[in-house]
Amino acid sequence: MTTRRDFLRATAGAGAGAAFGIVPTVKFEGAPAVHIRRVTPVAVASANGREAVAKAMEVLQGGGDTLDAVVQGVNIVERDPNDTSVGYGGLPNLDGVVQLDSSLMHGPTRGAGAVASLEGVKTPSLVARDVMRYTDHVLLVGPGAQEFAKSMGYPIEDLLTEESRRRWVEWRARLSDRDDFLIPEGSMRGGSGFRPESSYGDGLLDSHDGVRPQGTINCNVVNADGDISGVTTTSGLAWKIPGRVGDSPIIGAGLYVDNDVGAAGSTGRGEAVIKTVGGHSVVELMRSGMHPEDACLEALRRVVTYTVEPRLRDELGRPNFGVNYYAVNKKGEYAGAAIFAGSRFAVSVDGDTRVEDSAYLFERD
Ligand code: ASP
Repeated sequence: MTTRRDFLRATAGAGAGAAFGIVPTVKFEGAPAVHIRRVTPVAVASANGREAVAKAMEVLQGGGDTLDAVVQGVNIVERDPNDTSVGYGGLPNLDGVVQLDSSLMHGPTRGAGAVASLEGVKTPSLVARDVMRYTDHVLLVGPGAQEFAKSMGYPIEDLLTEESRRRWVEWRARLSDRDDFLIPEGSMRGGSGFRPESSYGDGLLDSHDGVRPQGTINCNVVNADGDISGVTTTSGLAWKIPGRVGDSPIIGAGLYVDNDVGAAGSTGRGEAVIKTVGGHSVVELMRSGMHPEDACLEALRRVVTYTVEPRLRDELGRPNFGVNYYAVNKKGEYAGAAIFAGSRFAVSVDGDTRVEDSAYLFERD
């Protein structure tokens, strides 16, 4: 398999960031500490984060902090009613209630904050940042998270859009033909069911039950000083059991940042990422010297190994769901990787913002 990285190595001399490196701060007798090399700043995100990485890079270029960069980036997607996987307009739970999850980490201060099952606030990443800044805690959940958000001045709003409510009503009606919910003639979109969809940019079904829409945004940056931050934010699995929390707000699963090493985050089946401590695993693998792409692929192999339930495996014994990792390291090297071919990720580097193909473990049949 030729990966993006192999290609870059064979051509442009290892690509963006790889030719750079943070050299440890050097002290001379009587002189202040100096950095003798700087990093090429990079922002990476899931495929739905093209605007987010562009924004993050704009903030970095303006001298902004790495955490402000990623948060301002994902805020665009959280507020976008047309992204049905994140924030406002995110698809609701079983009861038609939107419950949002988010976590973030600020590398330079080793800070972390998170919220889970938060209702009524469009931008859970901002509340997660307030948990980090204004409390001695890392994670607030459910009504407690909402009370905290209210105390910080966030308005409590209806997060269902007309479109997301309609899709929930359709889903509820399709659950059973023996209950009292009806499907009015001609009212359904797209014939026999929901269109398979994924916001990971693979154009393929990427959910773990074969029909359920999923999505999330993860965004990670490294700036010219080698400082690193990351954020993950999501409405989670559509139609989930109320109170179900995925990987996104779990520090070490949906996100991990170590300012000495790098950052990694995930999208896809959260249960699989939690069980393999995905984000932390990727960062630890990078710490051992692996390139972000190799680290992401190795962490995905662990997901495959942990997928032993027959209901979660296809006829070839592979997972029947998707997981994607996105990572940057302190040198400005970056990657996106997925279990299956076809996934993409957004990157902004060297004045260019684009969507690239992710590395992968398996071809789709
Ligand atoms: N990882 C998210 C979760 O499990 C959902 C997704 O990315 O599709 O909640």
